[in-house]
Amino acid sequence: MLSKSINPEDWLAALDEGGFRVTTVQETLIDIFAHSEYPLSAEQAWDAARQSRPKTGRATVYRMVEKLESLGFIRRVHGYQGCSHFVPTLPELMMLFICLDCGRADYLDSQPLGDLIQHSEHASGHHITDSRLQLFGACADCQQNA
Ligand SMILES: [Zn+2]
Repeated sequence: MLSKSINPEDWLAALDEGGFRVTTVQETLIDIFAHSEYPLSAEQAWDAARQSRPKTGRATVYRMVEKLESLGFIRRVHGYQGCSHFVPTLPELMMLFICLDCGRADYLDSQPLGDLIQHSEHASGHHITDSRLQLFGACADCQQNA
């Protein structure tokens, strides 16, 4: 699950270190993204934020989502619902799995990917610093319920 790998406190600390004034709306949004099992659009994040803070402004949430993306805390999922949804970024190179039935997002054991990347670096001489590998299919629950 995504939530096991993400510590909202780390994001808040990074924002603070970056000189950003951390607002309660930001705290709310970080909490929402860090604990969601599904990729979220800015619109969905706004909906979720209003559950606990009904007066949260739509534009504020959209700006904050942009900021979180530009800071690298969340990343866009491509090839899924118009490329407008986001998942938390993990520190390591990771394989992201998206269930096409229920939309659940999961980071998979990426040791084989790490080995492959290391091998590729040796073979090519390139230094690889980022990956955007996304895998799509049916999650274990959806296969059982099929
Ligand atoms: Zn599923």
